Amino acid sequence: MKVYQDFSLKFYNAYQIEAICKKAFFPESEADIIKLYKNNQDYILLGSGHNIICSKPYYDKDFIIFNGNFNTLKVDQTTSIIEAEAGVTIYEVSNEAQKYSLSGAEFFYDIPSSVGGAVVMNAGTKEGETKKILSKVRYLDLVDMHIKEKHNEDLQLTYRNSVFQRQKDKVILKAWFQLKKGDAEEIKAIMEASKARRWEKQPREFPNCGSVYKRPPGRFVGPMLDELGLKGYRVGGAEISKKHSGFIINLGDATGQDILSIIEHTREQVKTAFGVDLEVEQRII
Ligand SMILES: Cc1cc2nc3c(=O)[nH]c(=O)nc-3n(C[C@H](O)[C@H](O)[C@H](O)COP(=O)(O)OP(=O)(O)OC[C@H]3O[C@@H](n4cnc5c(N)ncnc54)[C@H](O)[C@@H]3O)c2cc1C
Repeated sequence: MKVYQDFSLKFYNAYQIEAICKKAFFPESEADIIKLYKNNQDYILLGSGHNIICSKPYYDKDFIIFNGNFNTLKVDQTTSIIEAEAGVTIYEVSNEAQKYSLSGAEFFYDIPSSVGGAVVMNAGTKEGETKKILSKVRYLDLVDMHIKEKHNEDLQLTYRNSVFQRQKDKVILKAWFQLKKGDAEEIKAIMEASKARRWEKQPREFPNCGSVYKRPPGRFVGPMLDELGLKGYRVGGAEISKKHSGFIINLGDATGQDILSIIEHTREQVKTAFGVDLEVEQRII
C-alpha cells in the first residue's frame, strides 16, 4: 500500500482545487483497508474525486483514496456478471462489458467515476442509473468491523442517492453488475453516441465536477439559472459555466470557498425567484 505525507489532492479532485491532506493511503486489498481501520476510524474517503468540493486548503485528517488502485475486475461470461473492486473506473466496466458483448453498462462509459463512487451516488444519465445493473455490494461495516454483502433492493438506491450517503460507517469494497448478452458493435455505438452528446453540452475543457445540483422535480436547473442571468457569474477563480449553467468550472485558481460562495448565492436567488430549494449533488468535504 502506498502512503504519502502532506499529500496534494489537486489531481485527486476533478475541480483541481489546491488542497493538502495530512496523509493519503492508497490501499491495494481488503486486508489493507481492514488494517487501516483497525488503527483509526476517522478517514475521509475518496473514489476518483469527480463529485467532491474540497472546502479547506489543508486537512488535518488522513484520506483513503481509491483511484488507480484496489482495481481488480472479473467478467463471468456464463452469468454475464462483472465483479469489480471499488477502485475500478466505471469507464473500464463499460469497456470490458463491450469487449465481451455484454449490454447494460453503456451509460457508465462517459461518467467519470470509481465503482465505489458510482454506488454511493447511484450515478446515472438519461440512459440509465447504477441501480439498474447493480446486483450486489460488498462493504466493510465499521460498526463491528465485519465484511458484509447486500443486494440492490437493500441499498435504498434513489435519484443520485443511496444508503451509503447517509451511513458513513460503511466502506464499499466491491460491486457486482448484472448485464445481458448483446451485440458488441451496437453497444459501442451507443457508448460513443452518448459520449458525443454529452461533450457537446458540457464544459469538459475546464476542471469541473459535473452537475452541481440535483434536478428539482418538474424543473431544469440550467434554464432557471439562465433566466436569473447567472450564466458566467464568477467568484474568485470559479465561474458558472457559460456553456452549461448547471456546472461550475475552475478557471485556474479557484478555491473550494469560491465554489461554495457561488452555490450559496445561486441557491438564494433560485429560492427567491422560483421558491425552489436547490439540493447540492456534490459532496462537500
Ligand atoms: C464531467 C463530469 C460529468 C459527470 N456526469 C455525471 C453523470 O452524468 N451522472 C452522474 O451521476 N454523475 C456525473 N458526474 C459526477 C461524478 O462522476 C459521479 O458522482 C461519480 O459517481 C463520482 O464517483 P467518484 O468515484 O469520483 O466519487 P468521489 O467524488 O471520489 O466521492 C463521492 C462520494 O462517495 C464516497 N465514496 C467514494 N468511494 C467510496 C467507497 N469505496 N466507499 C464508501 N464511500 C465512498 C466519497 O466519500 C464521497 O462522499 C460527472 C462528473 C464530471 C466531472
